Amino acid sequence: MALPSLADDTKRLCQSLLRIDTTNPPGNERPAAELLAAAFREVGLQPELFEAEPNRTNLIVRHRGTGAQPPLLLSAHLDVVEADASKWQRPPFSGDEHEGCLWGRGAVDMKHMAAMSTAIIRRLAATGTKLDRDIIFAAVADEEAGCDLGARFLVENHRSKIEAEYALGEVGGFSLHLGESTFYPVQVAEKGFVWVKARITGEPGHGSMPRLDSAVTKLGEALMRLGKAQMPVHQTKYVMQFLDMLRQQQPKLIQPLVKLLARPQLLARVARLVPGVSVARSFSALLSNTASATVVRAGAKTNVIPGVAEFEIDGRTLPGQTDEDLIRELRAVLGEGVELEIMKSAPPIVTEPVASPLWDVITRQVESREPGARVVPYLIPGFTDAKYFTQMGARWYGFVPIKIEKNSGIRFADMFHGHDERVPVAGLAWGVEVLDAVVREISGAQVQGESFESAAG
Ligand SMILES: [Zn+2]
Repeated sequence: MALPSLADDTKRLCQSLLRIDTTNPPGNERPAAELLAAAFREVGLQPELFEAEPNRTNLIVRHRGTGAQPPLLLSAHLDVVEADASKWQRPPFSGDEHEGCLWGRGAVDMKHMAAMSTAIIRRLAATGTKLDRDIIFAAVADEEAGCDLGARFLVENHRSKIEAEYALGEVGGFSLHLGESTFYPVQVAEKGFVWVKARITGEPGHGSMPRLDSAVTKLGEALMRLGKAQMPVHQTKYVMQFLDMLRQQQPKLIQPLVKLLARPQLLARVARLVPGVSVARSFSALLSNTASATVVRAGAKTNVIPGVAEFEIDGRTLPGQTDEDLIRELRAVLGEGVELEIMKSAPPIVTEPVASPLWDVITRQVESREPGARVVPYLIPGFTDAKYFTQMGARWYGFVPIKIEKNSGIRFADMFHGHDERVPVAGLAWGVEVLDAVVREISGAQVQGESFESAAG
């Protein structure tokens, strides 16, 4: 069958996906997965749907190659975080095209990747292109709530269907403008998480007679200590390499930071104190393990001083750090009177070494299209489906190419879970061309660092 151009197909698919509300919770990814399944069936492919719970649908599809090389996995999650419509300029599930962008929750996190991957595989199938590798696409549920019904479920129950040498997914591949330079960060490492319950006991009593040693008072003190603490700095090579690249490219902007690097504690403090600068805050999170108090619980009656107070801590660990390391650092901050219990955790992950044939292909395809721009390895403070997909041995790169023009007023970091999430239509077209070229080149096709539009079926 005749398909629209790669860019048009991507845009149409992205727009349709944005119009489906997959806010998690509750997720309800089924309609989005079915939409993609229909798009694959149209070109003769046989997508499979898997559910860990009703309507929490995952899709896997495979475009067969010659098998000369092991498969490449493309991945995207179909769920999105909630959106407060009253804060948006366009309704969050409109998929409207406005001011050169597609608007909607999921535009960059990450229905755009689902659309690009689908369009690329549709064209490979429709044109009967045989690559050296099978190209697998997994569209998964439940990433935003921890991956249990999505990537984790697939890895634990349907592993053979997604086993691959390389995997591409979030986070990375977007234009990051710093001063005069443009970077394309590619995720090669992500922090681990350690969710901890902190428990404090004290003397219970009647509310009419206050006590200094009550659990609630001690809880307040512990929260203050944690909130103000600067956790120890651990230099990781991913962050140092990233800074080093920035320094080579952007001496003026970064020189003060580099001087501070000799005194990492100071750097962390500076990064943390710069008010209102989200870059500084996220940068600070890359220098140490972190711990945020999130849930607080104590007492049930106004006139009873409870004997127990609890709070939950969202802890995050750097590559090279363990759960025990974080607990030790927490104890140093909170002192002996606070019992700590790990509720759930997953270790940091790294793609090591960063260099590989796929890394080279990514670098060449991006840098040849945008002279002067640099692809840089990047550590992210959050977690993604990579936590689970890497468990089957795939080398993971966070690479979802999107071009964001310098003066567009759009910053990728603000779009992510922010209001007015949108993706530039031209940047999406650029992205799918780059991703398509990367997929083909790593799979043995002869590809120039140029647009592939002539091959459109
Ligand atoms: Zn995401």
